[in-house]
Amino acid sequence: MMDAAMYCHACGGQIPAGSAYCSHCGVAQGNAPRHHSGAFSALVALLLVFFFPLGLILMWTSTDWNTDVKWAISGLFFSPHLATRFASLAREK
Ligand SMILES: [Zn+2]
Repeated sequence: MMDAAMYCHACGGQIPAGSAYCSHCGVAQGNAPRHHSGAFSALVALLLVFFFPLGLILMWTSTDWNTDVKWAISGLFFSPHLATRFASLAREK
């Protein structure tokens, strides 16, 4: 990587190579070091348990977990939720 500059993937503005954030629009750059730490993954996992919607969004947008894993987790959480929802709807009839 000898490039002196790169381009923001969001706005296309030229920014110094290795920038973590675009200096034009502030979007985090994909090739910047991400939250690979176990702590961040643990936080997302906690959110998935205690505040599922936010955890799901963070998982999809802010982790580099395998897409298959993300779908599996999404399926795991949606299925019981939907099943419970339908079950309660059915009971109310
Ligand atoms: Zn930008």
